[in-house]
Amino acid sequence: MTTAKVYAAASATSPLAPFQIERRATGLHDVQIEIAYCGICHSDLHQVRNEWGNSTYPMVPGHEIVGRVTAVGAHVKGLKVGDLAGVGCLVDSCRACPSCQRHLEQFCEKGAAFSYNGTEMDRTTPTYGGYSSSVVVDEAFTLKISPKLDLAATAPLLCAGITTYSPLRHWKTKKGDKVGVVGLGGLGHMAVKIAAAMGAEVTMLSTSKAKEADARKLGAHHFGLTSDDTTFKQLAGQFDLIIDTISAPHDYNKYLGLLRIEGAMVLLGVPPEPTPVSAFPLIMGRRTLSGSLIGGLQETQEMLDFCAEHGIVSEIELIPVQQVNAAYERMLKNDVRYRFVLDLKTL
Ligand code: NAP
Ligand code: ZN
Ligand code: ZN
Repeated sequence: MTTAKVYAAASATSPLAPFQIERRATGLHDVQIEIAYCGICHSDLHQVRNEWGNSTYPMVPGHEIVGRVTAVGAHVKGLKVGDLAGVGCLVDSCRACPSCQRHLEQFCEKGAAFSYNGTEMDRTTPTYGGYSSSVVVDEAFTLKISPKLDLAATAPLLCAGITTYSPLRHWKTKKGDKVGVVGLGGLGHMAVKIAAAMGAEVTMLSTSKAKEADARKLGAHHFGLTSDDTTFKQLAGQFDLIIDTISAPHDYNKYLGLLRIEGAMVLLGVPPEPTPVSAFPLIMGRRTLSGSLIGGLQETQEMLDFCAEHGIVSEIELIPVQQVNAAYERMLKNDVRYRFVLDLKTL
């Protein structure tokens, strides 16, 4: 066992504060990683504050983890001490069920082991995330990180990157497809970059007029202001695919009307409250409303390789870990351009 310095929440109402945890000894198949950077995902905030009603404490959030390998078990084949490595939202799964066999570990029928606010597959050992000096993870759940990309700006690919890449691939986004991205935050800005790199014609749908110039710089071809109802009339019936990343309750029905016949809207954001969905915009055009959860390990590696090839990283604000609570407040005020990343050297 090794002691790791972490930032943890003791309850749904306490701020994140310095704490210590034990990480397991590096097992035969394990990789020990000294964490350099960890992104702050809005899911961290939802879970720290128990907005989904499933939180356990103490909680060490963080599932956008990058760092260097400091030890490997005897059976580890693909990584050695000194290599860069990443860890995303998953640290284990049953590896045998139909979902795992299809490389969809996030949908493991036994329930995957999530990087924090969960347990290992023994269902008793709690998992602790990346706001931490180190982590020990089975090699099968680590990712290879290209040295070509800026390391801190690569961290958000481990959640925001794969969560947006996966539905774009699943719905077979190709050159010329019209893709709408709803919400320009951590996920949204990665969706714009990745969809544009796939050749899509991207429209940013945002409540923030002030983000228009950024949206275009990120690769969006068009911008629609969603606080203006005329936007929904102008863009009606256009999109092949809409990627919805909004973290707060909002009216899905308005956005469904923007889909072309048989278009699909994919929910990525997880607002704490449910929202009613009307049948009309769905039946009028055989449209689909779907959802998507991160991505499996194989697809996450594919996304990292795609990003390395296209020079795609996140736009980040690198902050010392002591500023994490202030960063949460800024995220809630929509004041993030476009991902906070913790510098774990400051722990
Ligand atoms: P974020 O950086 O805070 O971005 C959310 C964006 O949503 C904001 O930038 C804002 O964009 C828009 N927004 C916020 N409040 C709004 C409101 N009241 N009405 C309309 N728009 C609003 O969050 P994130 O890290 O990208 O995460 C977004 C959501 O995805 C969270 O709910 C998170 O838990 C979830 N998530 C899901 C998965 C998955 O696997 N499905 C993975 C990661 C995260 P504009 O200023 O452009 O309007
Ligand atoms: Zn996340
Ligand atoms: Zn499984």
